[in-house]
Amino acid sequence: MSTTPPTSPRPRLPSPLQELRDDRFTRHGLTLVLKRDDLIHPDLPGNKYRKLSPNLDAAVAAGHTVLLTFGGAYSNHLRATAAAGRLLGMETIGVVRGDELAERPLNPSLTQCAADGMRLHFIDRATYRRKTDPEVLATLLRATGASHPYVIPEGGSNSLAVQGCTALGEELRGHAHTAAVACGTGGTLAGMAAGLAPDQRALGIPVLKGGFLGPEIRALQERTFGAPTANWYLDERFHFGGYARTPPELTAFANDFEDRHGLPVERVYVAKLLYALTALSEEGAFAPGTQVTAVITATEPAPPAAQSSTSR
Ligand SMILES: *Cc1c(COP(=O)(O)O)cnc(C)c1O
Repeated sequence: MSTTPPTSPRPRLPSPLQELRDDRFTRHGLTLVLKRDDLIHPDLPGNKYRKLSPNLDAAVAAGHTVLLTFGGAYSNHLRATAAAGRLLGMETIGVVRGDELAERPLNPSLTQCAADGMRLHFIDRATYRRKTDPEVLATLLRATGASHPYVIPEGGSNSLAVQGCTALGEELRGHAHTAAVACGTGGTLAGMAAGLAPDQRALGIPVLKGGFLGPEIRALQERTFGAPTANWYLDERFHFGGYARTPPELTAFANDFEDRHGLPVERVYVAKLLYALTALSEEGAFAPGTQVTAVITATEPAPPAAQSSTSR
């Protein structure tokens, strides 16, 4: 589908499927399958590859050499954009929420962005909230010194990104009754749902608190496909207090899941998804015979070398 200059190594598509035997599912007559989108590319994991790839095509086709995007201090999307820029030889500019961060040492996530060549531009939170106002954006572009950049929205979820995620749904045809994914902006769910076959449905687990996601996903689908699809739903109970919050109960669940299955469980998105599916299974929310397929969008990054070196 993509004509982006091939990244190295080449993306692994379709991503692999992996069935897990877990008694919390089997005793309810359910099959749990993982869709390993985390294995698509080492630097552009999961849905970030699917979302960025059509945008990179568009940027290159229109003659852009600079990518500009937005994110918080721990944004996976910023990291993925920085990595994509390095792999494709494009300049990248990251507009980061929080001008106080400019005074501090970079956190590991932003350090990685900088190492990939991303130029970081910090702005205060009030301006950040207004970043899509044409006037604010124009001022911002002047301030960054970016000439003619290709602008990707926060979280990367524009129509091209949603379109890119339809391939995830298409790859899941015949491999799920319910396909479930953790949601940030909901762009991945919006595209995946549109790519599924008519007898399948999509379930989204928002990791942010707020209950605003349903209308946003409908709007994304309207913009991309002309109308929303009726085959998805959200369960808003599993945000655990908000973005990147990992209370002890979630950590204990994730550690136990790792022990049972040897799968490193990324804490911000994937832990909440797997917790939700396990809870729904135990609640009897899925009819016996249902194949539940969980989209694994990332695996836990390796711990920093400094932490393990003390024990050697
Ligand atoms: C960005 C991200 C998501 C959420 O994707 P959206 O399209 O914003 O809903 C899920 N999992 C991981 C690991 C991510 O980095």
